[in-house]
Amino acid sequence: MIQQLFVNPSNVLEVYNKIKRAFACWIIKERKVLDLSDAMISFSFDDVPDSAFSEGRSILKKYGYRGTYYISLGLHENDAPDPVLFDAGLLEEIVAEGGELACHTYNHIHFYNANSQEVIDELEKNQKKMEELIPGYRFSNFSYPYGEQTIPSKMLVQQRFRSARSIRAGINKNPVDLNNLKAMQLDSNLQLEKAFALIEQTRNKKGWLIFYTHDIRNDCSQWGCTPGYFEQVVKYCADRNIKVVTIEKGLDLIQAG
Ligand SMILES: [Zn+2]
Repeated sequence: MIQQLFVNPSNVLEVYNKIKRAFACWIIKERKVLDLSDAMISFSFDDVPDSAFSEGRSILKKYGYRGTYYISLGLHENDAPDPVLFDAGLLEEIVAEGGELACHTYNHIHFYNANSQEVIDELEKNQKKMEELIPGYRFSNFSYPYGEQTIPSKMLVQQRFRSARSIRAGINKNPVDLNNLKAMQLDSNLQLEKAFALIEQTRNKKGWLIFYTHDIRNDCSQWGCTPGYFEQVVKYCADRNIKVVTIEKGLDLIQAG
């Protein structure tokens, strides 16, 4: 095993990046007491493909909920079956109805390969483009593309955003690390029973469970889920009167606690 690891250069790089991320998460933290009266669940979408805006958003709205959309405004996949396009009118509608637009860098870059200036440029470019689409709208929260975190990038993100969401699996419990919020991906690897069990654990612990996914289609990618699956998770929360909040609203409740 050890021999294989060192013979294959890509394995060495992978281990190096994991160590880099572990150090970054260990050293740069923003701990906050989580003292909630009720558990909270958030539904978030990364990138964001059209089906998340259409299917995902309409399912949430059907149950009176709103989502957080972590967007990379430089992404433009016009010819894909589920295009990634950003229409100013649609984004405005989402904000007007209480949804949240959040930052995911402009070009969905790899932080492992980026220097500090490149990270700054990516964050500023996404903000600038956002304000061209919706004048005055400022991103408040962030999610790390590919979950990649380094010490310099975490410091830059911390200066600019209220929170940063990772792809580290788990429920956010006391104390919560606002610069490395845990999340669970809704995809075919997470069976519905497991998703329901996570919601129950969150209720018992009065924690904060953040779901994230990508496309919501019947022939979804490995990073997405079907509308039927998504609706069952959302309905599970609605049937039990569980508090579902955007990331921004969740932070307001934590701050007020
Ligand atoms: Zn992404």
